[in-house]
Amino acid sequence: MSGVGRPGVDPAAIDQPSTDPSDAGTPDLLRRTADLAIRYRETQPDRPVGARPGLTSADLRAALGGPLPRTSTDAWTVVSELAQDVEPGLVGIGGPRYFGFVMGGSVPASLATDWLTSTWDQNVGLYLATPSAAIVEEVAAAWLVELLGLPAGTSTGFVTGATMANFTALAAARHAVLRRAGWDVEADGLIGAPPVRVIAGRDAHSSVLIAIRYLGLGTARVERVPTDDEGRMDPDALAAMLEGETGPTIVIAQAGEVNTGAFDALDRIVPIVRRVPGAWLHVDGAFGLWAATSARLRHLVAGHDQADSWATDAHKWLNVPYDAGLVFVRDAAAHRAAMAMGAAYLPPAPDQERDPFEYVPELSRRARGFPIYAAIRELGADGITALVERDCALARQLATRLANEPGIEVANEVVLNQVLVSFDGDEALTRDVIRRVQDEGTAWLSGTTFHGMARMRVSVSGWSTTETDIDRTADAIVRCLADARRARAADPG
Ligand SMILES: *Cc1c(COP(=O)(O)O)cnc(C)c1O
Repeated sequence: MSGVGRPGVDPAAIDQPSTDPSDAGTPDLLRRTADLAIRYRETQPDRPVGARPGLTSADLRAALGGPLPRTSTDAWTVVSELAQDVEPGLVGIGGPRYFGFVMGGSVPASLATDWLTSTWDQNVGLYLATPSAAIVEEVAAAWLVELLGLPAGTSTGFVTGATMANFTALAAARHAVLRRAGWDVEADGLIGAPPVRVIAGRDAHSSVLIAIRYLGLGTARVERVPTDDEGRMDPDALAAMLEGETGPTIVIAQAGEVNTGAFDALDRIVPIVRRVPGAWLHVDGAFGLWAATSARLRHLVAGHDQADSWATDAHKWLNVPYDAGLVFVRDAAAHRAAMAMGAAYLPPAPDQERDPFEYVPELSRRARGFPIYAAIRELGADGITALVERDCALARQLATRLANEPGIEVANEVVLNQVLVSFDGDEALTRDVIRRVQDEGTAWLSGTTFHGMARMRVSVSGWSTTETDIDRTADAIVRCLADARRARAADPG
């Protein structure tokens, strides 16, 4: 098993580990592996961002596959060959010109702490088993609640991502609205339960629907509120849907639509939801919630602190390595009622300490609080604000530059870090430009279909992107557009 590496990281160039059997190779192995990681990171800004053009899954299977290994292989061989074999299909998500989906990089202290997190190997379910990891989560949780402008006393769970954050928050919602109707959903399930109305915007993220599915609430039963051209829920339509409602009701709003970055008008939605007794308002703010950290952007989330639960990601805008999601619930008792499990062998935490497993779906899990804690300390609240504001300014820079080119249209209001682009008003050409940019290697971004139209989607979510990176990316897009037009002219077919 050996592959073709790209310049920059050549495992063979790194000193071979000691073959002295007395040290079992471990310190050498870890030093050399750290070297590999450091070189990858150092060379990332200068490498092609996407996977090697033309790479196929068959190529990767040929390099990585084979029969089940029956016998042992020495550790450095395993690590160095793996590093070499995966190289062509690694994508520079952590680099400065990666603009795909909504994916942030990793700030240095957070990455370094992530290495230690694996090394420490703490299973952070119970305070008793991992006191330091549990307290780091508790401290980071309090910082995050303050940073994001959430109500004091809000409880926090450290989950894999916003999908599981949505799931956890909506499980708490399901508990609370049914308890109010005299139904114990944890004990009695949903069969025979009073009906629960679930209402979400037409442009709610698909992970919200998955969460609804996992919770047995049924995706087809979700009532969808019409949205405007930017994907924002129409509050008047919501008000009409809720008119006279008194039963169990969950409303799911969004801070940051995944294509446009647009925000539902929470300051209008909150009073509408509050007219329904006991209704629960959840906000999916996977990246948009971070607007709350900026005095300039905070108006976008106005009213968010009046909601009942919030989902966000640390692996997006806080630039923590994958995976790192966060769920916040105002009613900590509802949060725990939905998630906590009791088992005879799980001792109660001494002195009422916080047991992290009571706030997430998993019992055993990675100590995700460490890299989150490190990112918050490294950046500080001011640095987080600066990161968010800088990415928004860079998104505007790109939009302005592209909008000045003939035939390029910026198709959304750039209120945050998301830019939608179309080329010559032509969807096939737009798709072709995206593919060419991905292959060309200067930058990586992807496409989307928003309200039925093919668009290039650019998300500026990383800590290391500079104005120069934006210029280089705009140049690459313009070059690829010219190539796509030439190809079209040569073969209009
Ligand atoms: C990314 C995203 C999600 C899903 O988050 P994961 O971290 O991928 O689970 C949910 N909602 C919105 C608005 C998102 O942008």
